[in-house]
Amino acid sequence: MYSLYFHIPFCVHRCAYCDFNTYAGQENLIPDYVEALCSEVHQVAVSAARRLPVHTIFFGGGTPSLLSAAQYGTLLRTVRGSFDISAEAEVSLEANPGTLSREALIDLRRLGFNRLSLGVQSAHPQELLMLERIHGYFDVIEAVRTARQSGFGNLNLDLIFGLPEQTLGRWQRSVELVLGLHPEHLSVYALTLEHGTPFGRWARAGLLPTPDPDLAADMYEWTEMRLAQAGYGQYEISSWAKPGNQCRHNLQYWRGRPYLGFGAGAHGYAAGVRYSNALRIKTYIEHIREKRECRFPLSPAAVDSHAIPPFIEMQETMMTGLRLTREGIGVEEFHDRFGLDLMDVFGKEIIELVRLGLLEWTKAGDSLRLTDRGRMVGNQVFMRFVG
Ligand code: SF4
Repeated sequence: MYSLYFHIPFCVHRCAYCDFNTYAGQENLIPDYVEALCSEVHQVAVSAARRLPVHTIFFGGGTPSLLSAAQYGTLLRTVRGSFDISAEAEVSLEANPGTLSREALIDLRRLGFNRLSLGVQSAHPQELLMLERIHGYFDVIEAVRTARQSGFGNLNLDLIFGLPEQTLGRWQRSVELVLGLHPEHLSVYALTLEHGTPFGRWARAGLLPTPDPDLAADMYEWTEMRLAQAGYGQYEISSWAKPGNQCRHNLQYWRGRPYLGFGAGAHGYAAGVRYSNALRIKTYIEHIREKRECRFPLSPAAVDSHAIPPFIEMQETMMTGLRLTREGIGVEEFHDRFGLDLMDVFGKEIIELVRLGLLEWTKAGDSLRLTDRGRMVGNQVFMRFVG
């Protein structure tokens, strides 16, 4: 089964901490962009040896909610005409609170969207201002209410912790307020000060206090405890869900299964090849219009691609699979996929990380996963597998 990712690189305003491939003030390109996406879907689908089965579709960004329901209608018609979409497919849309009307949500639901992911980030007005978000917390409450009335039964809310000058109490208040909205899924990320963003530059110049890592660790630990208490099961380092509401699209990435990426800067992984498309919107549209013949899974917009050698694929499996906090890496699955025993390939690293208390075997001994302590230093654990 395949997954499809569509990148929608338009935002009303570029937030100071963001390093995603997204652009403000280019909304006039949206109609051409939608046309290019449809053309890309068609070109990739006809280059595949068969009609591919698809079980998840995800529109991320950027701010996907800047496209109209009519434009999504066109896109989904093209997708359904090009791939075999399963009847129970998860179809997700990322949206910024305050950018979706009730009418648009009803239309999107009718078109087949069944999961909505809202970038809340914080419930505190000062923090939202600092992050340069265009919404206030009341927009979040309104967006959730309208989404529910429009028939969305699967909502994810994104939150960011470890903000400059954020106190534990203020973070706890954000979490409590968001829990009051009863989302089915929560994604909780630590702020990272990326190079090339205003936040990164301000922090290096001493204009922005850098987040305190110990305090951020306390926030994460408290969040794990509080969300468990509220009935959310953690299934990935940054993801919690009510039973049955795990994000199937993201699971596809973490389990190392194939996905096709469409749009400017989109990444994909299929047929043993990783690839990425041209970043700039105009360049992407120009490439797609060239319609040159490409070998699956690439489209004319792909500017970088490489076949993944088996050992690199095994390393990537360790990095992404260990993010799955409950599931971890299945011994049998690893063997089925690579024809090798997990311990024969990574025995030295695993023995050491288990000894350090960062990895553990499940009771049945059939799966390897992070311990509570390992989750706090996940990146250091992953690095041990990539040398
Ligand atoms: S709305 Fe999201 S994608 Fe757009 S600039 Fe802000 S953080 Fe980045």
